[in-house]
Amino acid sequence: MTQKTLEQTRLFTRMVAEKQGWVLNPDTEFYESLVEGLTANYNRYGYYLCPCRDSDGSREADKDAICPCVWSRKDIPEFGHCYCALYLSHEFAESGAPCRAIADRRYEA
Ligand code: SF4
Repeated sequence: MTQKTLEQTRLFTRMVAEKQGWVLNPDTEFYESLVEGLTANYNRYGYYLCPCRDSDGSREADKDAICPCVWSRKDIPEFGHCYCALYLSHEFAESGAPCRAIADRRYEA
């Protein structure tokens, strides 16, 4: 399996942000920790499993949690950022408000 480098993952996050109309977390240290997590997950599982979530055992079981996860489409408009706070809405980023812990929708009924 091809291994991803940190730079490849940074590029991936920039492309996702651009495509979705989001911005990356401006806290560089925090952003880099998520890039490391995403890269480690890719190199372990073969896909960009969310860096804030555990694998459910297979790509099929994890498919909704592959970055950008399906829940980010609800969380970003509602809270201004995704569960991990990797991606922020432009509006939220411009507000300067701190990211807060939000509930994980993964196992919501
Ligand atoms: S919570 Fe954020 S970082 Fe995690 S998979 Fe969803 S979009 Fe990606």
